[in-house]
Amino acid sequence: MKCPKRDVISWTELISAYAKNGNMESAGELFDGLPVKDMVAWTVMVSGFAQNAKPREAIMVFEKMQESGVETDEITLLGVISACAQLGAAKYADWIRDVAEKSDFGGDMTHPRSGEIKQALEDLLERLEAKGYQPHLSSVPYDVSDEDKRRILMTHSEKLALAFGLISTLPGSEIRIVKNVRICEDCHSVICGASQIMGREIVVRDIMRFHHFHDGICSCGNFW
Ligand SMILES: [Zn+2]
Ligand SMILES: [Zn+2]
Repeated sequence: MKCPKRDVISWTELISAYAKNGNMESAGELFDGLPVKDMVAWTVMVSGFAQNAKPREAIMVFEKMQESGVETDEITLLGVISACAQLGAAKYADWIRDVAEKSDFGGDMTHPRSGEIKQALEDLLERLEAKGYQPHLSSVPYDVSDEDKRRILMTHSEKLALAFGLISTLPGSEIRIVKNVRICEDCHSVICGASQIMGREIVVRDIMRFHHFHDGICSCGNFW
């Protein structure tokens, strides 16, 4: 299952290179030809148009992304916000908050218990780091600083869902998480560690399979 994924990544890198050089026409042609348009590919197009002073196009692509049901992340929303700022479009500002709220727990932490969730996640990561966990910065497919990568990894909805599960269920009870995309390596290792140090059975269903985490081991054997 790994080869098609890699294809999407390398095409996306090419699209990203065109966008950086201001050649949105070629970027668009490659994008249109992509058989599978994942979150990163869509986001590169949204940010590309925004960075090349084409805010209307950025918003149009973002609307299509929403229609296709692909998840958005912090970088996607930053692209849209920058496009809206260029247009001076106040009406979009309300609409973006709406979108951010609808996307799981949202990277912007608008969930009513977001303060507690964030704290629970930070506590968990601290305990994992004491046991040798290191964030998988390569799970963030964008060309941004390590600090930004760390921050983006913290906003992944699986981690927020896990933290929410930890604070909202009885100690020792099972936690179930459903994802409509493939779980990333970093979230996989955090959830794996959490099953051990918190003594929890955790089940994650992503687009590929079920992951049953028990005492620091996943049923997929770390290959998925
Ligand atoms: Zn993740
Ligand atoms: Zn697994």
